Amino acid sequence: MKSIAEKANGEEVYKRLEQGLNPDWREYVVLVADKLDGDKHPFAVLAAIILSQNTSDKNSIKAYYQLREAIGVSPEAILEAPLDKLVEAIRPAGLPNQKARSLKEAAKRILEAGGEHILLEMPWEKLREFLLTIPGVGEKTADVFLSVKRRAPVFAVDTHAMRIAKRWGLVPPNAGYREVSRALLEFFGPEKSEEAHRLIIALGRRYCRARNPLCNECPLRDICPKIGVKEAERKRPAMPRQLSSRG
Ligand code: SF4
Repeated sequence: MKSIAEKANGEEVYKRLEQGLNPDWREYVVLVADKLDGDKHPFAVLAAIILSQNTSDKNSIKAYYQLREAIGVSPEAILEAPLDKLVEAIRPAGLPNQKARSLKEAAKRILEAGGEHILLEMPWEKLREFLLTIPGVGEKTADVFLSVKRRAPVFAVDTHAMRIAKRWGLVPPNAGYREVSRALLEFFGPEKSEEAHRLIIALGRRYCRARNPLCNECPLRDICPKIGVKEAERKRPAMPRQLSSRG
């Protein structure tokens, strides 16, 4: 299988992505939550990740601000809030009933386990197991939290990372979460995993879209094996810069 690793190592790819994409932290709900509230309330970061499931950062950022304003982002505030008020506050993130239940359950479990400081103090492997027992918290949610708040050696895999690792040829087309996560962690190295995760999201939004990827404009066009991207799509004429907006 062809792989991007034959032409460049993780450091080189990281550098190209960083220079070519220059992402802004205000576009990521997780970083918005961490910058605003993460020091005082590590739970806020977990709440933001739950809000971001199956929606855009734009929608989840709106929901996060509303949650912060109407209820607060501590586990105590979320557990005490009336369910209908919580649902209303987070509505812009979509699936508000489901996400409100997940937020309440996460708040309850974390308070029962001793309070939100456990999110910063429990050994990260044990914390990962604990987080995965919370309904609505899957591997991606747990790994995003662990990489942002604990700098743990994990690589969070969302739909962009899943698609891109396969197009890069780092994993076979049928690889699952664990395999993709391990391959990306190994490729970029554990120190860079959090930032690389964000760069991959930016790459997926701007160039390496699920449909009609903009290979002709992509900063990796000369080193990427483009596995699974149809020839016709690869050769699409480049769009004028102002039209190549984020998807
Ligand atoms: S847009 Fe094309 S060249 Fe860029 S990473 Fe995706 S498949 Fe590779």
